[in-house]
Amino acid sequence: MRNVIIIGSGCAGNTAAIYAARANLTPLVVGGHEPGGQLSLTTLVENFPGFPEGIDGPVLVENMKKQAERFGAEYVHGSVIEADLSKRPFRINIDGNWETTRALIVASGASARWLGLPNEQKLIGHGVSSCATCDGFFYRDKKIMVIGGGDSAMEEANFLTRFGSEVVIVHRREEFRASKIMLDRARANPKIKWLTNTVVEDVYDVSKGIVTGVKLRNTVTGETSEREVDGFFLAIGHIPNTKVFKEQLELDPDGYIISKGGPRTSVTGVFHAGDVEDRIYRQAITASGAGCRAAMEAEKFLENEGH
Ligand code: NAP
Repeated sequence: MRNVIIIGSGCAGNTAAIYAARANLTPLVVGGHEPGGQLSLTTLVENFPGFPEGIDGPVLVENMKKQAERFGAEYVHGSVIEADLSKRPFRINIDGNWETTRALIVASGASARWLGLPNEQKLIGHGVSSCATCDGFFYRDKKIMVIGGGDSAMEEANFLTRFGSEVVIVHRREEFRASKIMLDRARANPKIKWLTNTVVEDVYDVSKGIVTGVKLRNTVTGETSEREVDGFFLAIGHIPNTKVFKEQLELDPDGYIISKGGPRTSVTGVFHAGDVEDRIYRQAITASGAGCRAAMEAEKFLENEGH
């Protein structure tokens, strides 16, 4: 029987693990299908306090893990495939192994959203990507396309200009959701080209096993066109990883956990931390803060229960 299981090993999960471990709760951290969370897919993080020169995302998150392990946190590879939160102790199935726990912190984050194009999934890893940092290197002197109009799209497009011969941002509207500073930075980059009021209808060529081009549609004129592309990068937001809790925790229509005051969820003894609940701030530092709060509430809960 565990005192606390923490689902997720991003900033939220790792910070919760540091606090829970230092409270002598020996937490078990389930790494999840994206160990290290979003930070493991980024390069330089310049806005996490304490690093005046910035720090690499994967290094930052690995440091958090080491810090938690130093105080006794245990990490297990794998994902939660089933959960029973109907009674305490809670039961969690990690890739076929059931664990029981008195308290649970859900810090499972949010994963990349896909467009749902007919050929998109068939070409993932063969030209279709949701992670510029991971895959940009493969597109040296190639034609790159980035889909989206938010900060991620701007950031990824800028990053990808290090590699590609051209980087085209395709956005479905005329206005951009991205913050002014990120948009200005992208606009000032001469290697970035822009296609607004444009949606992608499909990506080719499954028969060749690699991305060779896309079919585009202008949403104003209705005109369709084709364009040669080698690297097709999605930056259209994220979906919370809450599938296994669908019938058990109160979720909003998009699947984000609904907070019942601070880190509390609709089930007593189950707490949330990070992007799995936060659709607004979604920063490393806010996720870490949320992890801290969740661990402190879990500790208080266990103490009140006499553990
Ligand atoms: P986002 O802000 O939700 O933007 C998603 C973009 O994708 C929007 O422009 C949206 O278009 C577009 N989109 C969504 N679904 C689409 C679809 N089916 N087809 C075509 N386009 C679609 O997501 P994000 O850019 O990943 O940013 C998430 C959060 O992280 C934000 O709060 C952001 O500020 C933050 N962030 C910060 C930084 C930084 O400061 N360094 C970097 C990255 C992200 P519409 O605008 O038309 O809805």
